[in-house]
Amino acid sequence: MARIVMKFGGTSVANIERIRAVSAFVRREIDAGHGVAVVVSAMAGETNRLIGLCADAGPPAPTLDARYIEHDTVVAAGEQISSGLLALVMQNLGYRARSWQGWQIPLKTSINHGEARISEISDSAIGEAMDGGEIAIVSGFQGIAPTGRISTLGRGGSDTSAVALAAAIGAARCDIYTDVDGVYTTDPRLSKQARRIAKISYEEMLEMASVGAKVLQTRSVEIAMAYKTPIRVLSSFDPPDAPGPGTTICDEDDIVEQNIVTAVTPDFNEASVTVLAVPDEPGRAARIFTRLAEAAINIDMIVQSASREHGFANISFTTKEDYLERALEVLNSDKEAIGFSSLQSDRNVTKVSVIGLGMKTHAGVAGTMFQTLADKGINIQNISTSEIKISVLINSDAAEYAVRALHDAYGLGSPAKPADENA
Ligand code: ADP
Ligand code: ASP
Ligand code: MG
Repeated sequence: MARIVMKFGGTSVANIERIRAVSAFVRREIDAGHGVAVVVSAMAGETNRLIGLCADAGPPAPTLDARYIEHDTVVAAGEQISSGLLALVMQNLGYRARSWQGWQIPLKTSINHGEARISEISDSAIGEAMDGGEIAIVSGFQGIAPTGRISTLGRGGSDTSAVALAAAIGAARCDIYTDVDGVYTTDPRLSKQARRIAKISYEEMLEMASVGAKVLQTRSVEIAMAYKTPIRVLSSFDPPDAPGPGTTICDEDDIVEQNIVTAVTPDFNEASVTVLAVPDEPGRAARIFTRLAEAAINIDMIVQSASREHGFANISFTTKEDYLERALEVLNSDKEAIGFSSLQSDRNVTKVSVIGLGMKTHAGVAGTMFQTLADKGINIQNISTSEIKISVLINSDAAEYAVRALHDAYGLGSPAKPADENA
């Protein structure tokens, strides 16, 4: 009997009717003779509602204080409700099923509440129950910190719960059911031209997730890559008896034909900061980024433009919008030691990235990107690259237009070739 993990996101469990639809997908796997663990998210909108309640009770300080621990206690409740409801629905259909909360497994995490990382999952009790024919319905997103308190894994964290559980119990695969029928060449909500990708490598999916394609949480792909867990992304809105082929996330070697560019991904959740007139001498940049790191502020694109003549440099970087206020506070509190004249910030910026393994071996991808944006009169504020990704920062007003133009420029909208399906 193979063990498999199925994960259903918020829209897939949005109400009892949707939970009944989910139960049909689960029955299919049980009837096929598999041992099944089902990881569920909170019902659509529920996590946001719970976060809102916490904010009404007093905004959490982004530190390890008691208030933030209670924040996790509240927001983890959304998943507890959906796991209990799905267990009830399965029981009413005559199946043996039970809900598992993170602390009951236990799924152990680090102490950083709100963005905890999974440190260990005990497979003994849950594995035994599954082998005994009981369906394990697991609350995603939540775990238990070393202090014994409930922790959560960051937004979209149920994906990570599912993949980590799959790795821990040696599952044959992890199926992520969501509201789209696979991973697309760009967010299908942004472009009608977006095309489903039949197979994508872990490496490309990791880049896509880390630059903002929210279809999978970044950490979930890291874990899948490390443990070689096969993932499929499928739609829970397909008929349960005939789901579409979805997208398989697998090793690069298992993909027959590789495109040069696989996807275009926007991240609207960016903000930029420019530190003006910093003395152009050793140690100043180190001071800026050490202060930000100490405040647990993640930094992304960095650009320095030095004016040698005048002995000053401007240093720009991007961070997530949520971190912006804190980044400005941290820098202003150290203004004298860093020695800058003033700070500029902009929330109306979007990072647009093109991703593709083929970039390792093909030249000209950057040229096409910059020329396409230039032809559309779109100004590039910042650039960063990795081996298989190029990102540019542009004004948000032009972002959707830029995504569609780049999608066209790399021929991503053209009909799928048979080889694309890796048939
Ligand atoms: P869930 O609640 O099931 O976890 P999410 O909302 O977190 O679902 O993720 C699914 C969403 O990801 C889709 O509705 C889609 O708009 C978005 N998305 C962004 N980029 C992509 C992409 N390249 N391919 C597919 N979906 C994408
Ligand atoms: N419910 C959590 C969120 O909305 C976790 C998840 O959906 O994956 O972020
Ligand atoms: Mg999600």
